[in-house]
Amino acid sequence: MSMRVHVVGAGPVGLLLTALLQSMDGCSVHLSEKRHEYTRTRMVQLAPYLVADSVESYRTDSIDGDSVEAIFDPLELEESLAYRQSIAPDLFTLLQGWAVGFCPLNSIERSLNDLIDARGHSVERIAAVVTAEDAMSMLEPGDVLVDSTGSRSLLRDQLIPTSDEPVAGANTLTVRLEYALVITFLYGQPYDCNEYCKYYKNIDNTRYKFIPMVNRTHYDGSVSHVTGIVNISAEEYEAMPSRFDGGWLRENAPDVARSMDRFIDGIKRETQGEILGDLEIVRIPLDLYRARNATNRQWLGGHGDHPFVHSRVFLAGDSAIGSPYFQSISLGFENAMFLARLVAQRDLAVRDMLDRYELYIYKQWLRVYMRSKMIKHNKDLFESVDDPHALLDKLHIY
Ligand SMILES: Cc1cc2nc3c(=O)[nH]c(=O)nc-3n(C[C@H](O)[C@H](O)[C@H](O)COP(=O)(O)OP(=O)(O)OC[C@H]3O[C@@H](n4cnc5c(N)ncnc54)[C@H](O)[C@@H]3O)c2cc1C
Repeated sequence: MSMRVHVVGAGPVGLLLTALLQSMDGCSVHLSEKRHEYTRTRMVQLAPYLVADSVESYRTDSIDGDSVEAIFDPLELEESLAYRQSIAPDLFTLLQGWAVGFCPLNSIERSLNDLIDARGHSVERIAAVVTAEDAMSMLEPGDVLVDSTGSRSLLRDQLIPTSDEPVAGANTLTVRLEYALVITFLYGQPYDCNEYCKYYKNIDNTRYKFIPMVNRTHYDGSVSHVTGIVNISAEEYEAMPSRFDGGWLRENAPDVARSMDRFIDGIKRETQGEILGDLEIVRIPLDLYRARNATNRQWLGGHGDHPFVHSRVFLAGDSAIGSPYFQSISLGFENAMFLARLVAQRDLAVRDMLDRYELYIYKQWLRVYMRSKMIKHNKDLFESVDDPHALLDKLHIY
């Protein structure tokens, strides 16, 4: 009998999962999305580990590599690497392209969307805002429901059994790391950055340091795409609009603008280029969060006729785990790969399937929690590097 998989949310993760499942024998995919077009142009990069073909190449990230070895068993890593090799070439080629450079989020979404449509195996599309009630009413015995609706997940709260209304946030653990401005600009020369560059170009910036991410500059042959973050206070965050340009920054946050200008002047002195266009700025809280339950395991074995008592429900991508510092899509993509492998194991008991997924999500959480805390800690030290007392206050050696 064919297994029906309902994927709600066709962002990058829902689309990748659909592309992985659509050619699987005995599986029919139903994909719901509320947006009519893909308009998010922010530049994103995928981690090279997504297309790794060996444990060594999977562990090359300097912060993440040791955690991977500590958290995952060798067999787990081998199985997940073997799965990558089995991904259809049309899809794997796309992943390889994204893992080497930078590209707009909507170009990832459009490419996956077009690939799904171009393949012979049809996917049933539903263009609508899906409510939690809609999602539940889609479910028939044996169906799989995947919530890939992003950070404001449709079903996360619903995974905690209650006879009343679900309690908002009851299933979410959140760690707020900081508030930040994400600043992006184009520069008309090749420009690369390392830890020395971050330090010397910020040397006169005592309060606001612009920190470009290593690997977050990309020269595409004519322009460099530069993205970095500036730490701001909670009060500053509250006083800013969610998105603005360089003019707004200069008028309303002149100290941040001056720091930015000093940093950019440093780049210009070295490479004699110019900023092309304006700065694009968004202000975001940098939160790490996870769903305490990423499946409907708490409902299993329960009584009553709630649709979650007899079904398999999974959170995927930002619905399950969210992380700052530009790592989320890669985690979400790995998440989709793991889920596709689970769905393919047709003889797996429901409880085993949910338990395996929960364990996997928990391990990914440990991994991203440690990496994010380490990045934040390093950033804090960096910001105090010229002030030994402030630096020592942040060092807890034993
Ligand atoms: C400024 C910024 C820069 C970033 N840069 C990076 C980066 O460089 N690298 C990186 O890895 N990550 C980056 N991220 C994070 C990244 O964008 C997210 O991790 C990623 O988009 C999550 O994918 P997703 O598919 O899980 O969820 P989403 O992208 O949020 O997609 C969810 C989809 O579900 C749909 N949906 C939601 N609710 C419903 C509903 N009720 N019914 C039907 N459809 C619904 C939405 O329309 C959407 O298409 C960045 C984020 C920000 C804000």
